[in-house]
Amino acid sequence: LVVVEHVHKHFGELHVLKDINLTVDRGEVVVVIGPSGGGKSTLCRSINRLEPIDGGRILVDGKELPKEGKDLARLRADVGMVFQSFNLFAHKTILENVTLGPVKVRKQGRQESEKHAMELLERVGIADQAAKYPAQLSGGQQQRAAIARSLAMRPKVMLFDEPTSALDPEMVNEVLDVMTGLAREGMTMIVVTHEMGFARRAAQKVVFMADGQIVEENTPDEFFTNARTDRAKDFLSKIL
Ligand code: ATP
Ligand code: MG
Repeated sequence: LVVVEHVHKHFGELHVLKDINLTVDRGEVVVVIGPSGGGKSTLCRSINRLEPIDGGRILVDGKELPKEGKDLARLRADVGMVFQSFNLFAHKTILENVTLGPVKVRKQGRQESEKHAMELLERVGIADQAAKYPAQLSGGQQQRAAIARSLAMRPKVMLFDEPTSALDPEMVNEVLDVMTGLAREGMTMIVVTHEMGFARRAAQKVVFMADGQIVEENTPDEFFTNARTDRAKDFLSKIL
């Protein structure tokens, strides 16, 4: 469903993505882990064209994302993205946050959008917060609202970039539980996280990225118990 082929990306002199190749099948959950500055966020941002790439290509459902224009907004809607900071619109209610995209980009009717939004808020467990503003919610609730907002666009793949690392510890699980549920229902997901429990529970594949390269790609079990490279072993010894 997602094909990343020979992708390169520079920031000035800095070569941040060095010949990245990655395939994510429909329904597959891939966890990306690795040291700070390794290029994990840049890879995510490249996949939905928040960041232009300098070489190679990225296909989502067989289509390359165009650089700009109407098609970009529409195709980008196929790729949901959830960030560390929740990025909700502060001056809109939770319900408005979730319906905005479908109404504007998907040209969906308001009633239908609100019905779908309420179903999604139900699913992430915050239907009772629909009329509130983001600042009135806890971090965990805001992140779940952000997930509902992404899902409202009916994306083909969901990208999560350290979705729980800005949360207080007691709120981490409520977000991971929602993500685990999505994985079980067959959503295709690329998740940057250091939450090993989630990786073991939900992922089919772990990708270890360092210095702009994919150093190792393996099943969670193999990766966590039997990493092949010293780079990965060293990283794991620091976080486990
Ligand atoms: P972290 O675990 O800290 O989130 P990461 O693996 O997500 O790290 P990236 O954020 O992708 O790493 O950054 C990769 C490299 O690119 C880093 O050296 C970073 O400083 C650099 N970088 C990222 N964004 C920019 C930018 N907009 N301009 C210049 N350099 C950037
Ligand atoms: Mg990052």
